[in-house]
Amino acid sequence: MISHRLIVLSVVSALMVWAAFLPMQNVSAQSVLLSNLRTSEQTAAAPSKAPSKASSMVKSEAAASEQHSVLRKLPAKDDTVPDPFLNPSIPPASPPDVGAILQSSGVEDALESPKSSPRGAHEDLDALLWLRTSVEFDALTRQAFAAATQKLGEALVDPDWEALVAAERTGAASASRPPCVIVDVDETMLDNSGFQLERIQSDTEYETDIWNKFVKRRASPAIEGAADFVKACRASGVKVFFVTNREAKVEAATRDNLISQGLMTASDPDQILSKNEQPDWTSDKASRRSIVAQNYRVLLLVGDDLNDFLSAKNLTIAQRKLLFQAHQKNWGQSWFVVPNPNYGSWEQATIGNDYSAPLEKKRALKMQTLGEAAQ
Ligand SMILES: [Mg+2]
Repeated sequence: MISHRLIVLSVVSALMVWAAFLPMQNVSAQSVLLSNLRTSEQTAAAPSKAPSKASSMVKSEAAASEQHSVLRKLPAKDDTVPDPFLNPSIPPASPPDVGAILQSSGVEDALESPKSSPRGAHEDLDALLWLRTSVEFDALTRQAFAAATQKLGEALVDPDWEALVAAERTGAASASRPPCVIVDVDETMLDNSGFQLERIQSDTEYETDIWNKFVKRRASPAIEGAADFVKACRASGVKVFFVTNREAKVEAATRDNLISQGLMTASDPDQILSKNEQPDWTSDKASRRSIVAQNYRVLLLVGDDLNDFLSAKNLTIAQRKLLFQAHQKNWGQSWFVVPNPNYGSWEQATIGNDYSAPLEKKRALKMQTLGEAAQ
């Protein structure tokens, strides 16, 4: 029994002694590894020296680990496809030459061409698209003429009804004169978007000579709703006067165009008051409105520009807004506007009313105005 106990005690003691030395063995192993790593770093820093056995072991372990991670990333081997990872003698496939593809397809030329660049588009492009393709534009003009027609009946029975601002009234007591309306021609009664289209297609700007040639073609269609408004005026015994900044020398063409579109009849007397037809008939329409008012009671004004309602030439944006507010009661009552996003005194105001400035300067001014408006 005693010998058995001694044997057991001896075994237990031996196990305890072995267990006590285990951490020391680990520390010792770690020390060896650190020592090997230091040796490896020193060897790397001194390539002329032959690598030690320990550093070779660390390097080979790292290389094995790296190779393992690369292999794990590789897809399943396909013997039909050369694999540059597994066979370094096969050069990897070259990336596609995007520049060459763009050049051969013509896309690059298109992108480099200022005319084709999205940023180089004509400044009237979207406005003209809207005018020529949208039903919203037609709906708005019809809406304006329908509202004007409704007000016509109201105005006719109101002896105090007067559309002109006080400064332009020249006649005697209102009720004693026959009724009339004054309308503008371009972009109010006639749609000249064909002229704007030609400017975009030729990448050019407005020029008076080219404009007059366009007018002489007598080809502008009526604005939606305009012919019905003229019919309603005629039916009510209300005369329609056309006060336009088309020049007097193209008035015959203007008249023909209006007649062909049902906006005037061939038997009508001269109801067109063109610019420069008389010495004082300048582009400011106030004097011509006053001449009409000498013999007629002006019930309504219809136009696409602030100057079709009162003198508003060469004003700043702020001055235009003040005028608009001062005459708030007139809009939709005796003054009716049809939309023109293409051109007008609104645009002039954005460029300091200097329309003769070079195109680049006008664009820069418009960008500046837009920035100021956003503040
Ligand atoms: Mg106009």
